[in-house]
Amino acid sequence: MIETDVLIIGAGPAGLAAAIKLKRENANMKVLVLDKGRNPGSHVLSGAIIDPKGFEDLLTQEELEKLPCEAKVVKESFRCILSEGWSVKIPWVPPLMSSKGFPVCSLTKVAAYLCDIARRLGAEVHTGYAVTSLVEEDGRVVGARTGEKGLAKDGARKSNHLPAEEIRAKTVVLAEGGSGILTERLVAEKGLGGVRPQTYALGIKELIEVPAGTQTAGETMHTFGHPSDFWTYGGGFVYHVSETQVMVGYAYALDYSRAEIDPFLLFQRFKASKAVRRHIEGGKTVAYGAKVIPEGGYYSVPTPQCPGCLIVGDGAGLLDSLRIKGVHIALQSGVCAAEAILAGDEASYFDRLKKTRGWAEMKRVRNVRASFSYGMPWGVAAAALAWATNGLLPCFRVPGCDEGDAAALKPLDRAKLAREVSSRPAGGPAMPDRLTDVFMSGVIHEEDQPCHLKIGTPSLCTACEAEFGSPCTRFCPAEVYRREPDSPDGAPTIDFSNCLHCKTCRVKCPKGNIEWTFPQGGDGPRYTRM
Ligand SMILES: Cc1cc2nc3c(=O)[nH]c(=O)nc-3n(C[C@H](O)[C@H](O)[C@H](O)COP(=O)(O)OP(=O)(O)OC[C@H]3O[C@@H](n4cnc5c(N)ncnc54)[C@H](O)[C@@H]3O)c2cc1C
Ligand code: SF4
Ligand code: SF4
Repeated sequence: MIETDVLIIGAGPAGLAAAIKLKRENANMKVLVLDKGRNPGSHVLSGAIIDPKGFEDLLTQEELEKLPCEAKVVKESFRCILSEGWSVKIPWVPPLMSSKGFPVCSLTKVAAYLCDIARRLGAEVHTGYAVTSLVEEDGRVVGARTGEKGLAKDGARKSNHLPAEEIRAKTVVLAEGGSGILTERLVAEKGLGGVRPQTYALGIKELIEVPAGTQTAGETMHTFGHPSDFWTYGGGFVYHVSETQVMVGYAYALDYSRAEIDPFLLFQRFKASKAVRRHIEGGKTVAYGAKVIPEGGYYSVPTPQCPGCLIVGDGAGLLDSLRIKGVHIALQSGVCAAEAILAGDEASYFDRLKKTRGWAEMKRVRNVRASFSYGMPWGVAAAALAWATNGLLPCFRVPGCDEGDAAALKPLDRAKLAREVSSRPAGGPAMPDRLTDVFMSGVIHEEDQPCHLKIGTPSLCTACEAEFGSPCTRFCPAEVYRREPDSPDGAPTIDFSNCLHCKTCRVKCPKGNIEWTFPQGGDGPRYTRM
């Protein structure tokens, strides 16, 4: 058994901010950070335009200057895409959305950089360890257990077997990111949930290399509209991080109702639209990834603490759901958690968080996400109202997004599905198919280990195929689920080695029939530039 003062689960910006703050203020405190990715940042994916106020009270001026920033936003535009060939430039960037001068970064690189700082200050950061359960005593979280490594497919121990390890800590900080397994378990068990369930979007991203001399570093474009339908919250981004590299991403709300939807296909159609095409002309995709974004906002935030445990970052749903910006709030929440621990008053964490600017931003746009569920015009009107009144109006909680993402799915329309499939754009170097993209994520799972994606009741899959046409075969951005005609028990075939750990299947399976457990630590995507 290992003992430490603070155990931090997850080395994303939230967890690493907590570690840095703790060690900077108290060098004698023992701080241990564990992450399931193979290397620091391997499982971290973002846009990312980072609001620099997140680094206040965390990094020194010298550290800030060395931040691995790809470019600064020099030119920004906001576009409503109406169809593949038509788009309208919004004449000015709405002030709530503006990021002029902000750094554009690969969050994978930023996480690796923060990890170096944390280690230099004396924190122990170990990657390749999935934490699979929390340890509780008398209602207090007192530690956690890591998963075993070196198990064969049938669960037998192989020669490289490493047993689970128990770690005892005075305080545990949960920094798992969106749809965190331990976090959701704890929130459910302790009844910590927010006033409405969390709602997610799936964010899909590629890094595309383009010919030199065709683009301007620091130019950014945000879009809404096509290929999202009128009723679904969705939008895209194009960030020129250098003269030869463009980050292109598309986020689609997982409360979509049309079972025939395939978010990866939407992403391709987004890239094929004229508004985006001109940014990636002659380009070639070189990296790929996907991850869920907790976009429910203010009303979906759980009580982020219970005795012995504090929840930070995306795990607590701390994200500005209008701007889809969460890095700065993740950093601020990590700092608040550290300050509460340093003050010997864990219970003060939520009150400290509520005093941050990130929290004020979330409060200001608290009704925007639900308003979008009534259609695009209402969403846009709610965003304008929030801006004009600094979040005072509407002063009541707009109903909506109450049923959870999976429940929103309606039965499959097979004619519409055929039309969706036929809308696939032509392939090309900047339009790879899904499996080529998956290859570029660097994902690796040891094949001889128990499958980490468990189907609960296969007969539910048979019913799901009849009603929804097995949506997991479409919503998974890594083609993990496949329908074989001769499937013995009605369940889809699972190629778990492709899994990007995006967690969409946990969120969107209409029968709640997929249990996402942890593969052995170190497996999964190996992002280097996401
Ligand atoms: C496509 C996309 C675009 C985005 N664009 C922007 C943007 O432009 N600007 C912005 O500010 N924000 C953006 N965001 C949101 C931003 O990325 C998140 O808010 C931020 O990464 C949250 O940080 P975090 O530390 O809470 O979680 P994460 O960054 O998700 O890190 C969590 C870490 O915990 C690890 N982990 C999870 N569970 C365990 C476990 N049980 N054991 C061990 N390790 C575990 C994971 O491997 C991961 O490394 C975007 C998100 C996406 C998906
Ligand atoms: S795993 Fe879920 S989405 Fe896939 S077929 Fe089974 S019930 Fe349907
Ligand atoms: S299996 Fe689930 S978590 Fe893995 S990539 Fe597919 S949808 Fe994402």
